Amino acid sequence: MSTQLNVYRQNYVFGFPGQGSDPCGALAELYQCVPEAREQIDATLAIIELQAAQYEPDPHPGLVTQVLLTHDHALPLPSGVAQLALYGAAVVLNQLLQAAGVVPALIVAQSFGEIAARVCGGVLDIAQGARAVCALNAAYRDEEGRGSMLLINLSAPATQALLDRFPERNLVLGSVNAPAQCIISGETADLEHLRAHHDGNAPPLRPIPIAYASHYPPHLEVARKLYENLQPLIPQPFHTPIYSTVLGRRYEPEDDLHHMFTRGVTQPTNLPHTLAQLPTDEHTVFIDLGVNNGLSTCIHKSLPDAQVYAPLAQPIEILRLLLTKTPLEHEAIMALRGLANGPVDAQVHAHMAKIFRDPELRPRANQSFHDGHRHTYQRLQHLMRQLPEGIHGFAQPQLLMAVASHAAINDPSLFMGCVIQQGLCIGTLLAFEQDHPHAAQWRHQLETGARLGVYALTEIGRSNSHMGACVEAVFDPQTRTFVLNTPNKAALKFANVGINNLDKMGVVFAQVTVQGQACGVFAFVLPLSDAKGPRPGVCMSSPAEIRAVPLDYGLASFDRVRLPFDAWLCDGASIDAANHFHDPLGSTDRRLIRSLFAPKNVWAMVGIGLSSVMLACATLALTHANRRTTQARIGNGTGLLAFRTQRRALFGCLATAYVMKCFANDSARLWIEGTASQASLQTTGSGDVTWTPWAAISQTLALTKALCAPAAEALATECRLRCGVAGALNLNRFADYEGMAKIYQDAGGNNRMILLDAAKVLIGQPLDEPTRPDPKGALDDAAYWQAMAHTLEYRLLKQVAEHVAQHSGEGEDDMQVWNSQLMIVARAGEAYAQRLAIQSAVQASHSLPQGLARELGSALCGMYVLEYLNKHAAWFISEGLMDIARYRALEERLDALSDFLTAHVELLIEAFGHGEATRAAIADTAPYPDALANKLQWAVG
Ligand SMILES: Cc1cc2nc3c(=O)[nH]c(=O)nc-3n(C[C@H](O)[C@H](O)[C@H](O)COP(=O)(O)OP(=O)(O)OC[C@H]3O[C@@H](n4cnc5c(N)ncnc54)[C@H](O)[C@@H]3O)c2cc1C
Repeated sequence: MSTQLNVYRQNYVFGFPGQGSDPCGALAELYQCVPEAREQIDATLAIIELQAAQYEPDPHPGLVTQVLLTHDHALPLPSGVAQLALYGAAVVLNQLLQAAGVVPALIVAQSFGEIAARVCGGVLDIAQGARAVCALNAAYRDEEGRGSMLLINLSAPATQALLDRFPERNLVLGSVNAPAQCIISGETADLEHLRAHHDGNAPPLRPIPIAYASHYPPHLEVARKLYENLQPLIPQPFHTPIYSTVLGRRYEPEDDLHHMFTRGVTQPTNLPHTLAQLPTDEHTVFIDLGVNNGLSTCIHKSLPDAQVYAPLAQPIEILRLLLTKTPLEHEAIMALRGLANGPVDAQVHAHMAKIFRDPELRPRANQSFHDGHRHTYQRLQHLMRQLPEGIHGFAQPQLLMAVASHAAINDPSLFMGCVIQQGLCIGTLLAFEQDHPHAAQWRHQLETGARLGVYALTEIGRSNSHMGACVEAVFDPQTRTFVLNTPNKAALKFANVGINNLDKMGVVFAQVTVQGQACGVFAFVLPLSDAKGPRPGVCMSSPAEIRAVPLDYGLASFDRVRLPFDAWLCDGASIDAANHFHDPLGSTDRRLIRSLFAPKNVWAMVGIGLSSVMLACATLALTHANRRTTQARIGNGTGLLAFRTQRRALFGCLATAYVMKCFANDSARLWIEGTASQASLQTTGSGDVTWTPWAAISQTLALTKALCAPAAEALATECRLRCGVAGALNLNRFADYEGMAKIYQDAGGNNRMILLDAAKVLIGQPLDEPTRPDPKGALDDAAYWQAMAHTLEYRLLKQVAEHVAQHSGEGEDDMQVWNSQLMIVARAGEAYAQRLAIQSAVQASHSLPQGLARELGSALCGMYVLEYLNKHAAWFISEGLMDIARYRALEERLDALSDFLTAHVELLIEAFGHGEATRAAIADTAPYPDALANKLQWAVG
């Protein structure tokens, strides 16, 4: 369903549904979350209460208001109250939307909804509408309890055929709601008879909570009473056309409106037929003014291409923005938020946010390390049980990206758990489960949280241990089993094994040895521990704590553990009856690259997680600075953001977060596309592995992590410092986020090694010379930014390439040739990653709709690039690519950009902030001192 409203480009059809929905609590969230709407809601409901007090025979003062604004009531409600409440919700919504500039071009009204529709169309005012509801209630009062209606998902002919089987019963097809959804009306006894004789294989009959039959031909007396009761109301001319589903057409000025409304008492409605009469186009959005999405769902079923929005059924956040921002600001916020969401749909984000709001997923304060680790696993298992089916087997890969984003904001330890469980362990099984007898079943155990995954690759004794495992899996030809063994302390595995009495399953990387020959590094799957402790032969150390992101990291070893043949994730390799080893990949390097398939998933998750955390940090710090005033002698009483140092620092952080988010999103898209082909042997890289296998596995994904982690660490530190004591407090979360950034300098592969490998691969390929940047190019020109970034990368790479060519030719060995250049190689790798990131941000900004959103996106992108040029200014000057005047102009432009962004700080916080999901006191809507005081326990003497 569409949720992005753009009043400049769309036209709206307001849809008013009939009765039959539950109004209890329908406006409660709106009232609570949008204080700006309260006055309007109170005023509208007061009018309705007044009419109810006057025209209902048994008034319940304030009940309609309570029903709508609280969750204290439930169906069935006293006579007439549900109708007044449904009417109240519709007119409140109509008022609020129109005040926010969302004005209907057309109205479509379903039965009872015609009353609110007439208010919307200018025919009646709110009080008259309420009186019309009382008139309807009075007309039906004698019928209450005698009849009702049933919903069935069948076409009109099929529903009629069903009713024809009971000719002795007075049952009628009251409404056609959609091509395959109808409403049956009738007396209670007849409806019960129908239900009792309904075929169990046919679509079920669902009761609708209405105390009488509507659209029911025998109700001539009700129609007469209603017509009479409506007479005191004098209709005004329409200002917006109304289409009635009873008439199947729009009202004309000459129509007798009271008479037309009365027809609904005895005659059926037909929504699909009426919708077909509406003059709509591709810019039309149907807005459902009901208390749920029942009408919009039927519209969607009738017109599958229709864009629909049901404000009270979708996240309240969307409605809040719509109501509180000007249409221009709203459009900019939605566009920027859409950009930040990247490959994850807004609906998926909203669903994931709801999952993560579960208090069971929150970390507890003041736990011992040991209890904290256990609790992290409990939360991980709980999360695995809550996740939607589509995440299994990465069937909907965007779900994994959504988990990464929300888990990172919620708690880095849980994020780390998700990375190991989903990215590494499930990811490895998924890649190699084809033709394996148990891998899919093991994966299922991890997906349901029944078992916890351990990914044991790194060995502690040597640098770059990923290049060749020393743990060996020796093939025993007698039993056709493997013996897994840790030959020495240097081969101890580093992994999450510190808690040793949980049901843990290891994905352990070992050198396969057949008949004394090393055949390559493969993954083995084995149970490591259960509730009783480690399995025989498995040794697990106590946790070797990492304060930055607590998890039970420790050491593991294997003492001649006998593994069945199927513990081997052989992935097409084999050992034949004559004990000869075969690998279709043909080389141990290619096998290594292939075995280490799963870190790809980690890099995509970490890119998304860290970029979300960067946006959270930057917006938290901006929120704080924006609300905080100073007592300094200069600028006494002004906000901290008025000061240039604060402004430059914090918008510099937001700019970094923005660019990293764009880069991580593009990488996530790449990963999502790649998941489709992940099991294919053909997609295994064959590239150069020098320091690590990472660049050969996926250069772009590895570089995303290598760029995001240091950027996030610097950013979190800066934001923490810019918030003073508020930054230092754990409950404001900067320390958690900084810790997460720190550990991803190494977890998932050492970033420096990734940069070196990436640059070395590029140096081995022909280099494309970029167009020389125009030294006088405009500082806000994206072409100039890209040319500068590309030239920096190209010249560094070329410098090394020339050195390598010359010195290799002179017979120096690789160590001599490369070692003297390593600083430049690392810098070239980073320059390449920066160019990719800048390219992503330029493209993403360009995709924003023209206007404020694009201006803000470009300003953030510009701020990032100009800071980057500033940082490398000495190099650019030395290369003749920048003169002194230009260098000085950079500062001026950066100031101007931060001034522009300051003018829109609230909008940017709204677009990019994670608000309450961070649980930081700073994010609270209450003033910071109150919010902070509320988060602490007090001893009062
Ligand atoms: C929090 C955390 C969680 C982790 N979780 C897991 C896990 O679950 N499973 C797992 O298997 N592993 C895990 N790891 C291990 C991680 O993959 C490794 O730390 C990482 O790959 C680096 O290896 P290393 O620690 O052995 O460092 P080293 O390879 O020893 O590197 C140390 C330093 O030396 C530099 N260096 C190394 N070699 C060279 C060279 N040839 N030339 C120039 N410089 C060099 C590096 O840049 C680095 O700065 C985790 C690590 C951390 C920090």
